[in-house]
Parts: sequence; C-alpha cells; structure tokens
Amino acid sequence: MTYPGGSGNRLLARLPAADFDLLMPEFENVALNQDTVLLRAGDPTEHVFFPHSGAISLMVEMANGQTVATALVGREGAIGSLSVLGPSPSAITAVVRITGTASRISASRFYAAFNKSSAIRVALQNHIRATLIQLQLGTACNALHPVKARMGRWMLHLLDHIDDDVLPLTQETLAHILGVRRPTVTLLMRSLRASGAIKSDKRGQIVIDRARLSIMACECHATMRRQLEEVFR
Ligand SMILES: [Zn+2]
Repeated sequence: MTYPGGSGNRLLARLPAADFDLLMPEFENVALNQDTVLLRAGDPTEHVFFPHSGAISLMVEMANGQTVATALVGREGAIGSLSVLGPSPSAITAVVRITGTASRISASRFYAAFNKSSAIRVALQNHIRATLIQLQLGTACNALHPVKARMGRWMLHLLDHIDDDVLPLTQETLAHILGVRRPTVTLLMRSLRASGAIKSDKRGQIVIDRARLSIMACECHATMRRQLEEVFR
C-alpha cells in the first residue's frame, strides 16, 4: 500500500493524502480467496475491506437455505463500510467470488477516521450511491427479465472485475448468485454455449465471448455500468 493515486481501490485512490493517512497506519493487506466469507448475516461488522482487485457478492439467504446475490463489490467499493451508519448486525453475507487483494481496517478505527474526514465521508456517499444503483436496477431486473438474461448480466458484471474473458466460477456458484436450482444453470449454460456466448465451461472455468454475451444479456448491465461510472466521474 502506498499513496492514494497508487491504490487499486477507487474510493481510496480519490482521497487526498492527508485523509488517506488517517487510514493507512491501520490498514492490513489481506488476500481475498475465492469462496471466503468476509462478513456473515447476523454478525456484527468487525472489519471494513477495501478491495484492490477481485469481486465479492452480497448474498441474502432465506429461511429454507435459498440464496441470491443482491450486489457485487470490487475495487470501486468497500465491504462493511455501512457500519458507520450505526452498530447493527449485518443484513447480508459477503462472499469472495473472484480472488483478489484488499486493505482491511477495524470498523471502529474506520468510524473514527470517518468522523474526522469530510473526504472519507464523501467517498462513503459515493459508495452508498453506487450500491443503491445496483440494488434498484437489480430489483427491477429480477422482477422483469428472464433468468437467462439475468445470468448474462451477472456474468458481464463479474467479468468487469477481471482482466480476461475466463470466469472462474462453477455452475453451483452461479445458481447461488442467481437464486435458481443448479439444473436450471446447466440448461442455461447449454443454451448460451449453443449461441456462442459461452465458448466452453469446464472445471469451473467459463470462457466467454463478451460481445455475444452482451447481446444475450438484458440492458441492465450496460445501464448499471454507465450509472456507476457517473458516480465516480
Ligand atoms: Zn435485467
């Protein structure tokens, strides 16, 4: 970890050096390993994570064990940062989907810096705006668009957080993210392979043709991406 401009995390990268220095001595560099749970629903938020790379999905679990992803957080956001709104159990479970790295700080130290720095408060406001955009568009998409288009949206959103066109995801993980049964994902993958949007799907490595997948996906990925870029412009 060096100074703001060199940070992979976009919230940190925009902080003036003096504000970043309120956080830096407290940061620990941590690896984000795929499938690691950073925060569990019902638990208090003990740490705030600022990813520099990788992607984490926010998951909601129903009483019967069904899960669905509500948002994705990568280098443009933070996990656990809404703890500044007041102590309460986490409403979501945060699971690493794409391996990466992050800077981690205790929630209490982050709260202290948040109270001292207007720039950190502005960064948090941007993160909250970006999260609300995802939640609102995601809610509309889940209600209005068919599951194949939604799977395309999630795959494109996940691809935005990696450098190539290979998604390191199993069909089971996709089922958890989409809130559907695994056989449904198998059928959808077959259909996407037939259309050329997915080139292959072996051993949890999904090779994607982005241009073709964009045609199969609903408009929500492009809309979300455009609105999120406006937040960080
Ligand atoms: Zn949609």
